[in-house]
Amino acid sequence: MALIVKKFGGSSVATPEKMFNIVNRVLAGKKEDDNIVLVVSAMGDTTDELVSLAKQVTSHPYGREMDRLLSTGEQMSIALMAMAFMEKGHPAVSMTGEQAGIKSSNAYGKGRITDIDPSRVFEALKGGNIVIVAGFQGITDDGDITTLGRGGSDTTAVALAGAMKADVCEIFTDVEGVYSTDPRISPNAVKLAEITYGEMLEMARLGAGVMQPRAVEMGSRYGVPIHVRSTFSDNEGTIIREAYTMSANEHVITGVADDTNVAKVSLAGVENKPGVAHTIFQTLADGNVDVDMIVQSVRTINDALTDIVFTITRDDVVLAKDILENLKKTIRMDDFVINEHMAKVSIVGAGMLGQPGVAAKMFGILSAEGINIEIISTSEISISCLIAEDRVKEAVHAIHDKLVLDGRG
Ligand code: ASP
Ligand code: MG
Repeated sequence: MALIVKKFGGSSVATPEKMFNIVNRVLAGKKEDDNIVLVVSAMGDTTDELVSLAKQVTSHPYGREMDRLLSTGEQMSIALMAMAFMEKGHPAVSMTGEQAGIKSSNAYGKGRITDIDPSRVFEALKGGNIVIVAGFQGITDDGDITTLGRGGSDTTAVALAGAMKADVCEIFTDVEGVYSTDPRISPNAVKLAEITYGEMLEMARLGAGVMQPRAVEMGSRYGVPIHVRSTFSDNEGTIIREAYTMSANEHVITGVADDTNVAKVSLAGVENKPGVAHTIFQTLADGNVDVDMIVQSVRTINDALTDIVFTITRDDVVLAKDILENLKKTIRMDDFVINEHMAKVSIVGAGMLGQPGVAAKMFGILSAEGINIEIISTSEISISCLIAEDRVKEAVHAIHDKLVLDGRG
């Protein structure tokens, strides 16, 4: 007997026909005493459509009302899915996030799951039902709905699987699994059989769009294996787990990620004294601008002044401009420039820990391609370079072929 949580995204439930495909597949694969919980997203582009509907009414972020609106997309798909199962002769029941016991913080639009009490889900399973839970939503202590950030159904699925101590959480998607790099950019991308939570978290954080980073975090916290696999085939996908089970799957560099949602902010001639960096970044943080890579230059000629360069997401450019215009009035700065045509290319691999020369190889490959590196940042298991956006595909190709593929010889 197994308890399995299966998550289907918006494109997998876009039409009634696609819903029936899922029903048929789930029922065909289900063993008599398997307990199955489905987490589903809103049909197709419903969430985007709801967002644009709201934009026609207001440009003001009314968080509470917005989350109530967005959460309706998932309510449509759970109800229809439950009907589709019953139509094919299997008992099923749909549940909102609240009914499934998913508590969330009151940060509208980016709620975090704070607690899960899945007792109602267990009860429904005991009654012989397949349970279909709305992804992307939770309920606050005050009884308000919050959504969990775009792509948040992944997080719902993994967290629910964790809380229910499921055997596995399967994430069904339109690709065959997690690849060594984006297969749309590099035809040489290889499907990974396994990847660790830590590596997957880095890949997701650095731009690989397969999964919401928070979902990977949940998997790691609860120790639930996550199986990323295709909606359209029965092939094994990629298992995300704590550690590799086969050494053949382990490599120095696991994958290459790229991110074009990047803008570079350069502050020139900033006063070089204690507290200035704190003021700048605290003000940005207070304005909810996420800052990623940061460098402060060392000046030898005039060390009373310094330059600070950092990156933000392009979505935050307008916000950051306002904040920096204001800051110019209170701290000394010659000027600031924002360049939106930047991209980040990163390599990820737990195997690079204690392996000298990996960074040098990456920089060498970029230099051979004539690609200039603007900023470098590293973590224990990743190295990222900020480069011009129009060179990012070449960079991914070259780094992937020379570092990832050659390493697998
Ligand atoms: N429907 C939500 C979105 O489009 C959540 C999800 O798909 O995971 O972001
Ligand atoms: Mg969606």
